[in-house]
Amino acid sequence: MADAIRTTCAYCGVGCGIRATVTGERSLEIAGEPDHPANHGRLCSKGTHLGETVGLEGRLLHPMIGKKRASWDKALDLVAKKFRDTIARHGPNSVAFYVSGQLLTEDYYVANKLMKGFIGSANIDTNSRLCMSSAVAAHTRAFGEDIVPATYDDLDAADLIVLVGSNTAWCHPIVYQRIRARCDAGAKLVVIDPRRTETAEEADLHLALRPGSDVALMNGLLQHCREAGVVDDAYLAAHVAVPQDFWDQLGEGNDLWSVARTCDVPVADLRHFYELFAATPRTITLFSQGVNQSTSGTDQGNAILNLHLATGRIGKPGAAPFSITGQPNAMGGREVGGLASTLAAHMDFADDNRERIARFWAAPAVAEKPGLKAVDLFRSIGEGRIKALWVMATNPAVSMPDAGRVREALAACPFVVVSDVIEETDTGAFAHVRLPAAAWGEKDGTVTNSDRTVSRQRALFPLPGEAMPDWWIVKEVARRMGWKNAFAYDRPADIWREHCRLSTYENDGARFFALPGAAHGGNAAYDAMEPFRWGGEQMFADGRYPTEDGRARLIAVAQKPLPEPLEKWPLTLNTGRYRDQWHTMTRTGLAPKLARHREEPLVEVHPADAERLGLADGGLARVSTPQGDSIFRVALHDGQRRGELFVPIHWTDRTSSGGRTGLLPRPLVDPISGQPGFKRTPAAIEPVAVRWRGFILSRDELAERPPCLWATRVAVPSGVMWEVAGNGDPKRLETLLPAGQRIEAVDAGRGTRRVAVIANDRLAAALFLTESGELPPRDWLIAQLSSPQVAPTLLAGRAPGVQADRGPIICSCFDVGLKTIVAAIRDQGLADVAAIGNAIGAGTNCGSCRPALARILTEETSHAA
Ligand code: SF4
Repeated sequence: MADAIRTTCAYCGVGCGIRATVTGERSLEIAGEPDHPANHGRLCSKGTHLGETVGLEGRLLHPMIGKKRASWDKALDLVAKKFRDTIARHGPNSVAFYVSGQLLTEDYYVANKLMKGFIGSANIDTNSRLCMSSAVAAHTRAFGEDIVPATYDDLDAADLIVLVGSNTAWCHPIVYQRIRARCDAGAKLVVIDPRRTETAEEADLHLALRPGSDVALMNGLLQHCREAGVVDDAYLAAHVAVPQDFWDQLGEGNDLWSVARTCDVPVADLRHFYELFAATPRTITLFSQGVNQSTSGTDQGNAILNLHLATGRIGKPGAAPFSITGQPNAMGGREVGGLASTLAAHMDFADDNRERIARFWAAPAVAEKPGLKAVDLFRSIGEGRIKALWVMATNPAVSMPDAGRVREALAACPFVVVSDVIEETDTGAFAHVRLPAAAWGEKDGTVTNSDRTVSRQRALFPLPGEAMPDWWIVKEVARRMGWKNAFAYDRPADIWREHCRLSTYENDGARFFALPGAAHGGNAAYDAMEPFRWGGEQMFADGRYPTEDGRARLIAVAQKPLPEPLEKWPLTLNTGRYRDQWHTMTRTGLAPKLARHREEPLVEVHPADAERLGLADGGLARVSTPQGDSIFRVALHDGQRRGELFVPIHWTDRTSSGGRTGLLPRPLVDPISGQPGFKRTPAAIEPVAVRWRGFILSRDELAERPPCLWATRVAVPSGVMWEVAGNGDPKRLETLLPAGQRIEAVDAGRGTRRVAVIANDRLAAALFLTESGELPPRDWLIAQLSSPQVAPTLLAGRAPGVQADRGPIICSCFDVGLKTIVAAIRDQGLADVAAIGNAIGAGTNCGSCRPALARILTEETSHAA
């Protein structure tokens, strides 16, 4: 067996180190890297199953012009010519790049340099705009530079951990395990989130605040700290500039009772939180999308930073505000300048910075001002002002708010280039040119995680087909546009060294982002690079900030009035992630084990709302907003606040006929950061009646999405499954079944129809439909896709004899279902999560399901009582 290669996980901003061992042409064994500071050997379910996602299924492997395969030369020449011609006719601001936190730092650097230094526009923005740009804006306002003060090590030293707008147990599972370990050692955990998530269920205190009331909550806390004598006047006097009327403004309307009313939380709980915070100097406040994805996201971030600055809880072990990022290299993108609002290397568009960049890059046309942020960028495309767009490694036709309008804009854009690893994406459908990019496991470079740790991603496989790394694709276009010398890179290490040199160029310490030592290593040093954290272990430990006077800033922020529900849109829609899926599922959607945790996009509704609105658990419902509508399966959840709905972000047109969440949010943004407010959209919901429902199983992908009202794709071992429902004639679904011997069973009384197709003496496909009867559990039938023979009870949907139904999968690593867990708890008297692990293995590998196991135990214990 080959030696293990040390690399970094492809998914979230935790940035876990991985040991990957190549076991075949496209297969891997994955283990956590014990020496990586982010995870110390642990991996969550997504990282653990990375090896299942490295096949070439669905890959784009050749350049395509329209529907035709083209040579790299022809495709690159065309891209360069179209961009050059568009710029010549309409100016530099008529073109744009929309890039991604999935890119490596080296990819990002080259794209940013081309747009901001040579094309002469700053119209390059990234999907990180949707994720954490409000935190960037808040950091810049408070500290003078976009700097995350905390590290994961601070979590190990904290006595109180406050999670704001973060379902950490699902979205950053390895960080959550670290938090749990600290709580097991005595630290307290407070979760502030409108939903009772699995993270909230394990907290010492959960404040289910009204969405959008975060500023009131934090301002009230600051006022309480002041009254409790916890504000650190000496720290403020030495290190922080405080606006003149700051404390007077804060005193108005921020008493405990007013805040409790605004936030819709019990006064006693609020007081408990405030007293806990005031009494605990070592406090980490970790925040993510629940804070950032708001039309007040920057103010909400600054309300948190104000608290830590005013109490002097920053720059000390276990005391800091901590914005945690969603994507693997959102931080690397921020460092490079991949947001339209920064120039490069944490520099803004001030004249001295522009001149410095022009000198360093020998650049002919440094952008004069910030470019268009994502929502404005796509609006400009729709208005015809941007005429050539290059989308790299992202899928805005799904992920942008008001995605229907984004599709119209893409369709109207005269020239669209998409570089991606996947052949068929919702965005790729609008591309004039598609360029095959290298995927995780094929490319070399660096990423920076949420706590400023830079790690290497390393190639594990040779480049497949004609795929090439993103940095190579961009530099080839740049050279064809006429800038040969400035883009003469032969390898990622060349780019890395230039990036490091820029970070220290004419930097006398005023800019804190700096990679001094890293600039001087050779290629071998780059290859062998160990993870390192820039900025040191304790950022701001000396109380000096990167502003002109060396002081941080308190920023006066006020709670904006929260609108009453509208008659037509009486509910509030929230969006977020599932534990085992990532973004638009182009990768995690390939792993059957990851699909088992949540197979379908669900709309979570409070049971009382469901009863009032006539919604049934497991039934279908249409969620509408002023932007559009989508159909989801209903899941009742008393952890939802009344009047609020929650839907996941992952499903696309390729994987679902309903459930496309991107259609729903409004394109309203935070006025400072430009980040869309995904978390609070006025909405309505109504039940959707269907005449029949069922599923299709197939060894091969279906030729098209099932033509019916509702269809959702699920990856299963050795094939694919589509859950379907509709009102029209379901006969049309049979046209999707492959050729072969058909066996059928029909029960006219129940409106049940079951068809199996046998080819080469094995099950090739099956269609099970019913109007009023039951459908069998799917597990046994799914297993028949990989069986070498045809079972005689195929159309019964079960093995001869009694077939155990495991229920929904809770532990993805060991495929343990809910019913198995409940039976083990009841039969064996299991009393804690460790006992469940000892008995049936669940929760003993990645640990992502431990919060779910704890909840099941609690429910079982309360039932038994
Ligand atoms: S927490 Fe999971 S998804 Fe995130 S980097 Fe670590 S292994 Fe990957």
